[in-house]
Amino acid sequence: MNTITDNAAIEAAALGDQQTEAAPLSLRDALIANGILIDTGENGLYGRSQVFEDVIERLSTAIAFLGADQQPEILRFPPAMRRTDFEDSEYLKSFPNLAGTVHSFAGNDSGHQRLLRALDDAVKLPDGERSDEWMDQQKPTRLVLTPAACYPVYPVIARRGALPEDGRVVDVMSYCFRHEPSLDPGRMQMFRMREYIRFGTPEQVMAFRQMWIERGSVLVNLLNLPVEVDLANDPFFGRGGKIVADSQRAQALKFELLIPVANADAKTACLSFNYHMDHFGELWKIHTADGEVAHTGCVGFGMERITLALFRHHGFDVNAWPDGVRALLWGDTQARLAHGMAEAAAAAAKAAQTSAQAEAGADAGVNA
Ligand code: ATP
Ligand code: ZN
Repeated sequence: MNTITDNAAIEAAALGDQQTEAAPLSLRDALIANGILIDTGENGLYGRSQVFEDVIERLSTAIAFLGADQQPEILRFPPAMRRTDFEDSEYLKSFPNLAGTVHSFAGNDSGHQRLLRALDDAVKLPDGERSDEWMDQQKPTRLVLTPAACYPVYPVIARRGALPEDGRVVDVMSYCFRHEPSLDPGRMQMFRMREYIRFGTPEQVMAFRQMWIERGSVLVNLLNLPVEVDLANDPFFGRGGKIVADSQRAQALKFELLIPVANADAKTACLSFNYHMDHFGELWKIHTADGEVAHTGCVGFGMERITLALFRHHGFDVNAWPDGVRALLWGDTQARLAHGMAEAAAAAAKAAQTSAQAEAGADAGVNA
């Protein structure tokens, strides 16, 4: 495991000469000052520079190699989904505060004139003082913004009928929207999630999740980032939310791979490993080949968060990143990943052998 303890040194490396003794720049300010993220004036909504996008694309390629042996079906959706599918998904039960709906003008000609008059008044005022009266005639469309990359997939798979014998693995990537404006650059309102989704029996899904905890850790280790996997829960809304979150934890349904990103004291979830049990199977009526309700799980890679972690730990000049990291992203990605996975498998086999020997030794001691 690669652990980095000296946060001050990491910060200094990332911030370079942008950091002054008097007022150290936050990671967000430094990313903007270095042109890596582009400020739009809205918290959590950024433009991305070429160098940022290059890292995202190379990470995405690495993730594709990591999952190639699963022979996933690759599906891509625009960052919106059908409102009725979204209603059926029960997302609003858990996260009404994060959801984003799409509205559009639904007036007539005189309504348009009213809109233009209200807009005329609005644009005379600065941002914080504007009225939103011009929006009075906006009506919900039949689309909502995608809250998690896997959401558009369940109804599509459900419409195909029963799963094949081995279940299915689907590979998706989408911009997602969550209404959680923040100054933390790791908490964006629009960000990309790359996911593998497993449909099958409970055993298949549990094995898939365990495998991805291991593979995700291999990837993050090869990126020279500190790895820590922990039990987690989602931020369920409202008074009942805590009970649901506690039950999610008690059943160990969600794990996260945490890396320090913007905040030296708190770690940020960069990968999530979720087991939904039969929740989506029931909801969407997805069945296995032998007629049981399908279980599902997904591994989600937070593309922006992993990229931010790389800039935070290795500095803003990608040419100066550690050789191994450069070789992984800009060199022979596939061979390096294969080597990393083989080494991790060998280490796991050795650990299993050592613990079996220790157990046998203990048994012999007891018998003697
Ligand atoms: P958090 O607890 O930090 O809010 P989450 O548990 O809600 O995250 P998931 O719903 O599991 O996140 O989403 C999958 C992945 O998407 C996360 O592991 C993370 O890397 C990324 N992600 C989630 N929310 C954001 C966000 N607001 N900005 C950037 N990435 C995000
Ligand atoms: Zn998912």
